[in-house]
Amino acid sequence: MKKVLLLKFGELFLKGKNKKDFENLLIDNIKYKLSEFNFKLTFPMGRIIISDYDEFEEDLIVNKLTTVFGLIGVSKATELSADVEEIFNYVSQIKISGTFRINAKRADKKFPLSSMDLEKQLGGVVLENNKDAQVDLHTPKTYINVEVRFNNLCYIYYETIKCAGGLPLGSAGKALLLLSGGIDSPVAGYLMAKRGLKLEAVHFHSYPYTSEQAKEKVITLGKKLCKYCDEIKLHIVSFTKIQEQIHMNCDPEYMITIMRRIMMRIAEKICNKNELGAIITGESLGQVASQTMQSINVTNSVVSLPVFRPVIAFDKEDIVEIAENIGTFETSILPYEDCCTVFLPKYPVIKPTIKKAEYQEKFLDIDMLVEEALNSQEEIVLTNN
Ligand code: ATP
Ligand code: MG
Repeated sequence: MKKVLLLKFGELFLKGKNKKDFENLLIDNIKYKLSEFNFKLTFPMGRIIISDYDEFEEDLIVNKLTTVFGLIGVSKATELSADVEEIFNYVSQIKISGTFRINAKRADKKFPLSSMDLEKQLGGVVLENNKDAQVDLHTPKTYINVEVRFNNLCYIYYETIKCAGGLPLGSAGKALLLLSGGIDSPVAGYLMAKRGLKLEAVHFHSYPYTSEQAKEKVITLGKKLCKYCDEIKLHIVSFTKIQEQIHMNCDPEYMITIMRRIMMRIAEKICNKNELGAIITGESLGQVASQTMQSINVTNSVVSLPVFRPVIAFDKEDIVEIAENIGTFETSILPYEDCCTVFLPKYPVIKPTIKKAEYQEKFLDIDMLVEEALNSQEEIVLTNN
């Protein structure tokens, strides 16, 4: 008999032939996340078991596991052999009061009692040994979960702590997050990572118009995302000259449109060089002039990679709620300026057209500006430490 952690995973079973790859990736990701601890990991069909860890570190380990994409729950369980006598003996020593329910799962059909028999008979054992306990199948105070798995072992536990869900990090490939210092883009990155995309990020800064602290803020945000995303390569690109050139040569109304088109071009070049298959932004429809349908069309038209905008349909409050839950909100609201706010025109165009944007761009040497910006980039690998 020993204490273990029983991990449940989500949608992996949907993936047919790829299932094995998904499972292996999930296991690698768990091992990476727990690399500072000693433990043993086993994988009897349908569950992952973590055992042989230092009991004092149990809560720390559970905490880390809740941030692994692909896991849906973790339970502190007791592991017994799948032996009727041993199970009944253990359950007879459980001390509870109030209402309870036994939830039994017999994954291994070779086990002599059916799930239903186990529930009835073990329920009887609990009642016999706890004078203040009553069965309530609908809203019990205590769930006693009993799982007989294929490894000839049985797991008994009370609660399941919710994990991050989604798909294993990296199972969907790699993509580039446009990371500003705002509230929306970290949330966008989190949501896409949750669907299995490993992230790299790019941040555009306009030093000295934007401060060193603004850059530090983005590094902090990236590190906070690493709690879920393990490791993020952050490309920091200087946007100063590009903004000055646009400011000097283009119609102020189109300034933000052109800026965003150049950001997308640079982002696509970074993707191609680093084998990243998509661009991610934190745009939300109608939030500002650059996020109208027409604006999005005009910025989108300069790239051919897919652009994922997971918060496009979210209200600000919904984005804020996620930002609070994942721990990025308090950093995002620090008051440092973003490059988008430098030389901000009073009346940015709300319904730009591709034709007019292309006309404005004739006044710039875009290829040279993009090339120079790429050459100036600094790369930092961020982790959660
Ligand atoms: P956020 O809260 O993410 O900053 P926002 O509501 O302020 O978004 P915009 O400033 O229009 O909106 O930016 C829209 C998206 O463009 C951002 O979500 C982000 O993905 C990208 N972006 C904006 N500024 C930068 C920047 N300086 N570096 C990298 N990406 C940026
Ligand atoms: Mg912003």
